[in-house]
Amino acid sequence: MTADGIRLRAGVATDTGRVRSNNQDSFLLLPDRGLWVVADGMGGAQGGEVASRLAIETFEDAYVEQTEQSLAEVVAEANHRIYEAAESSELRGMGTTAVGLALVGDDDETDQQHLVVVNVGDSRAYLYRDGGLTQLTDDHSVVAELVRDGRITAAEADVHPQRNVITRVLGVYPEVVADLWPIDPVRGDRYLLCSDGLFNEVGDDQMAAVLRRLDDPSEAAAELVRLANEGGGRDNITVIVLDVLDDGGVAERASAALSGTVGRGSDDLAGFSHAIDDDRRSDDRLSDEELDGVRTPSKRTRRERRAERRAARSQRSRVTWRVLLFTLLLLGVLGGAVATIQWYGTSTYFVAFDGDEVAIYQGRPGGLLWIDPELEEPTGIVRQDVPARYADDLDAGHEHSSLADARQFVDNIERDISERAAATTTTEPPTTATTVPTTVAPTAAPAN
Ligand code: MN
Repeated sequence: MTADGIRLRAGVATDTGRVRSNNQDSFLLLPDRGLWVVADGMGGAQGGEVASRLAIETFEDAYVEQTEQSLAEVVAEANHRIYEAAESSELRGMGTTAVGLALVGDDDETDQQHLVVVNVGDSRAYLYRDGGLTQLTDDHSVVAELVRDGRITAAEADVHPQRNVITRVLGVYPEVVADLWPIDPVRGDRYLLCSDGLFNEVGDDQMAAVLRRLDDPSEAAAELVRLANEGGGRDNITVIVLDVLDDGGVAERASAALSGTVGRGSDDLAGFSHAIDDDRRSDDRLSDEELDGVRTPSKRTRRERRAERRAARSQRSRVTWRVLLFTLLLLGVLGGAVATIQWYGTSTYFVAFDGDEVAIYQGRPGGLLWIDPELEEPTGIVRQDVPARYADDLDAGHEHSSLADARQFVDNIERDISERAAATTTTEPPTTATTVPTTVAPTAAPAN
């Protein structure tokens, strides 16, 4: 078999959806260089569109060598370009996800190839094999990390107020770490690359049913987009379906190696058997866990499996690259943790006493690690006017998820104060109060 043995066929569909006014998703089909990418931009009216397009353009001009290393470098380059563009314009804060599949050369002496999944953010790659759909990527989002840490359930994640907050993204921080992992393609496999506009509207079973029913990848992609719109179309939707028409004998050689028929003096396979041996060690364990994964989906099992795959491959990598990658990963994990804590420490507001005056703060009452709450705005309400029922709350700090909510809470206190003042300065029955011009809350009981 030659390097040209692996053949893939792609179909794509994209749509603005039924709610948004513009499509901030972008995609790339680059079959000549074996690269397929979906990017979901975010930030401002135009920022998202610009960010996802910049990412795609970077892949298009900078991805030349078909290697894993080159792929990682292009991701870093895309991050850099978007970050720079965001600094020098009104596009501040823009960013984009990117999920891709690349056909790259094995990093040994053979001219064999394999597939690599690359991911930053919460777009996804799925594998459809033997009638079942498996998510290949980990979402880089706050809720997905909480689920992986066992702190909330998947059901809680679905309705979590911060479910759209992503922890890794291209263009927002000076550095980014992409997830990269290799896959051995098997003839008949279908890969799905998509933005969250698809899987937030369409269930796994529905997606699998479409991939089972429609052979043509373009038709399947279009049908998935149609279903997402039918489900609500609340976001832009982009889908690439990628079919493995020919795996170049990878699967055959792998199973031959497993059954011990490799090494019967075949020169063709001699150079490859070492690589197969490496893979086989992990694949032997994988197959059992893969079955487990299908029967009782377990994040932990999938992650372990990936870790094993990475470990098996890295034995064949140059040490310098391995050390560099490990360092980058470590920095990425630390950076992600810092960013998450920073976000958690500053994402809410609370109302509390600033001395004897009520004030709105940004942050958490009492602070969080190195993050002290910041005074957002004073309210002019003094302690002696505050109704007793608010006092405990304000002493502890009353939390709100947004500034608007905090202001609403302050408005409520003010209303109570003015109603109480009105009730104590006039003894007239409420029916005569129609002449009072400042009445704002007809439903409130005057006795309060
Ligand atoms: Mn989206």
